[in-house]
Amino acid sequence: RIDYQSSSFPFSTAIVQTLKKQFGLSSFRLCQEGVINAAVDDRDIVCVMPTGGGKSLTYQLPAVMGRGLTVVISPLLALIWDQVRAMKEIGIECVMMTGSTSTAEQNEIYDRIKNGPSRGQKELRLCYVTPEKISKSKRLISSLEQANTAGRLHEAHCCSQLGHDFRPDYKKLSMLKTLFPRVPIQAVTATLSSKTLPDLLKILRLGDITDGRNAKTTGTVFFSAPLFRPNLHYKVLPKPSNAKAAIAEMGKWILEHHDGESGIIYCLSKKDAETVAEELREWSNSGIKTGVYHAGIDDNAKERIHVRWREGKINCICATIAFGLGIDKGDVRYMSKSLEGYYQETGRAGRDGKDSDCVLFYRGQDAARLSSLIYGDVDGTSKLQEMLRFAQDLKTCRKLAFARYFSASAHLSASAWDNADSLSSSGGSTTTCGICDNCTRSPESIITKDVTVESWKILKIAQIVQSEGGRVTLANLGDLVRGLGGGTFGVVGGGEEGRRKKRKLTGEKGQLSLDEVGGKVTMGKDDTEMLLMHLLLLGYLRDSYHATAFSVNVYIIPSDSAVRLT
Ligand code: ADP
Ligand code: ZN
Repeated sequence: RIDYQSSSFPFSTAIVQTLKKQFGLSSFRLCQEGVINAAVDDRDIVCVMPTGGGKSLTYQLPAVMGRGLTVVISPLLALIWDQVRAMKEIGIECVMMTGSTSTAEQNEIYDRIKNGPSRGQKELRLCYVTPEKISKSKRLISSLEQANTAGRLHEAHCCSQLGHDFRPDYKKLSMLKTLFPRVPIQAVTATLSSKTLPDLLKILRLGDITDGRNAKTTGTVFFSAPLFRPNLHYKVLPKPSNAKAAIAEMGKWILEHHDGESGIIYCLSKKDAETVAEELREWSNSGIKTGVYHAGIDDNAKERIHVRWREGKINCICATIAFGLGIDKGDVRYMSKSLEGYYQETGRAGRDGKDSDCVLFYRGQDAARLSSLIYGDVDGTSKLQEMLRFAQDLKTCRKLAFARYFSASAHLSASAWDNADSLSSSGGSTTTCGICDNCTRSPESIITKDVTVESWKILKIAQIVQSEGGRVTLANLGDLVRGLGGGTFGVVGGGEEGRRKKRKLTGEKGQLSLDEVGGKVTMGKDDTEMLLMHLLLLGYLRDSYHATAFSVNVYIIPSDSAVRLT
């Protein structure tokens, strides 16, 4: 049995020296030391560390110490650019091969891999490639076959989807073990659950796992680090329903808390990213320097944005989730589809270990748009509900909420948030973070209001609508109960069967008289939306999530029980 994490492990002295001399760092973080020891010991490794935890070092350092070339496979171009630049800066020979590498450059790289350094050149240490490249390029494979290669696989963000829609190119990586049986493989990831671990092992043809602190001499050495990062301050801020007001609110928050600092605003769509960037720039009179980053932008433009962001010429990047890793700071947040997505996005904040804010600007109505975005995703609806529950919750510590979510839905032990070895330990996380909005909120600041009457009215109206064969979106229902929209609602045709299948609106309109419920709901738009979301989450209203456009169909679960929300 081997304890790779022990500082008296035979390689430990040498790797600490390299850490200081080559990387200019003073000590290891989390399970870095263990992973690096096992890597230098030529073991197959699976390493789970939070985003920003320091996974890169676990393959960069062994690459410098070991013999031969380390191939890093990553789907994230931003990460590749960032790391190649960083490695060159500290004098480590490093190249990359992506879809945009020219043929001439590729030839030179193949030559260097096959024949080693030519006169005056240093030995090549790292070669970053995309999964597409390695699975498609026969020449790359054949030059690797002729070289002395150590494999390090950087799997950065696809693991939670390993099960079903895992990138096809990753499946092809199963050839690596067959082609290079003696080359160790190291898989590093931020989001691996006990459920997806077997898939990963299978795809990469790795042996059963053995604990890195008490490892058998055979098998894949497993390491994990706590997923919760104490420098991230989670908060949910209300987003006004008016679009202009929402921009102003975000802008004010940025200027007040992070003026001149770097941040990312994750948006729901490419168009949103563009609009938010434009409007935020206008609102702030260019005080906030914004940039846009999404999948629709070509690689060269992405690289330029990335450079300007690095140089501080852009503070605030408005992005879709496509703006990936390789970013060293970030302090602004927006809205996300699932808690997993939110957690992933926030991983990009505070990578230097300094305090950072992870803000979710939230408005109940966003759910309407989110639900259409996840349409077709089997688990989507419950994930969305969790996200909404998280956003509407004013009491539970955000860290505990994450722990609960991941233990329930991602099949990770709740204690993974606090302890290492997440896949092997059990039990729950119990300590609150003390720094999130809910931990720091004073109880007096929560304004409570008895909304029994309003809730009753809403449910009664929803019931009338339903009994008349009507269909309303959440927004319609909000308007209806507040006496807006002339009291009309769309009527569904096609009988019960047709209703289940198609829910086609007939063009006819139903008419509601608010007298039946004793008058309209007198709350404002934002409060009404909030209450509707509450009723939805509590199961009094049911969202059919069959929206194809940006709307949510609200169906009603009749209930006799009295509603009391405070
Ligand atoms: P990950 O790949 O896990 O998301 P990175 O490898 O990009 O994270 O590391 C995040 C940041 O932490 C980087 O800026 C890196 O330089 C820094 N870092 C990593 N390991 C250490 C360490 N042992 N000491 C100090 N800084 C570190
Ligand atoms: Zn907390």
